[in-house]
Amino acid sequence: RAATGPLPAHPRVDELVEQAYRWAMPDTSGAVADYIPALADADPELFGLCVVEVDGASHAVGDVDVAFSIQSISKAFVYALVCEELGHAGVLERIGVDNTGLAFNSVMAIELNDGHPRNPMVNAGAIATTAMVPAADPDARWAAVRTGLSRFAGRDLALDDEVYASEAATNQRNRAIARLLESYGRLEDPLEAVDVYTRQCSLLVTTRDVAVMGATLADGGVNPVTGERVVSPDVCRDTLAVLASTGMYERSGTWLFEIGLPGKSGVAGGVVAVAPGKAGIGAFSPRLDAAGNSVRAQEAIGYLSRALGLNLFASA
Ligand code: GLU
Repeated sequence: RAATGPLPAHPRVDELVEQAYRWAMPDTSGAVADYIPALADADPELFGLCVVEVDGASHAVGDVDVAFSIQSISKAFVYALVCEELGHAGVLERIGVDNTGLAFNSVMAIELNDGHPRNPMVNAGAIATTAMVPAADPDARWAAVRTGLSRFAGRDLALDDEVYASEAATNQRNRAIARLLESYGRLEDPLEAVDVYTRQCSLLVTTRDVAVMGATLADGGVNPVTGERVVSPDVCRDTLAVLASTGMYERSGTWLFEIGLPGKSGVAGGVVAVAPGKAGIGAFSPRLDAAGNSVRAQEAIGYLSRALGLNLFASA
């Protein structure tokens, strides 16, 4: 199928979501992330897949209501919120939009670029982006982040205290990244920024939430379930462009080549993918490939992209 047409009728999408799920299920390769101790306890067999269309229709299969920490998927939505507040040019001046080709927590990527965060989807750029959320103090900034991500999801998202405590105790590398940004004059209160960022990564979501969040970006910034406008169409466009080039860590090019959709993954095993004007896809399974992307989520979303004709680069 080509990307130009509408999605098939709802019952057919149901069928294809089931098929994608069955297709990806046997792949048990990869490993659960363990550099954050609390994540190592995740059940590797969990697997959920959900498509939410821009008309609000949803198609779900598997463990779609199991909560997991959002991790780096949050970066996409915090970036959108900051772009909404500060505008395209103001954000671009401070955070780039190019892939680093290096790991998400690379210090070298900062050094190679005079401390200018290369993009908002690696930790340096994400911590700097979180610090840009307008707020009077850290508590207000955290509240703004939580409220903003909740509006994308269409329900109040809660913090996973255990994941937060576990990451806060072991995130020396993120603190080092923030200190390095500070040394380049690009971050004022590094430890505060890392703390809000760590909370943001510890918010609990379900696969269904992730699909609704993606559908909001697919729908020009209006949450198709609540009907609330969260960000503008321009912000969606910019955010999706950034996701296309940087959303899947250093495998973003491979993902775009195979799947042809903007997407963002997190180390807890969640992935969001967005078919602009059509649907958001949420997928979750904890086993990750070497770059940190859920193996089954990639398989399932790849299947759906082909079966539903979602690849943005396919004209026929
Ligand atoms: N909170 C994680 C970290 O900063 C997020 C990593 C990810 O999902 O890529 O290390």
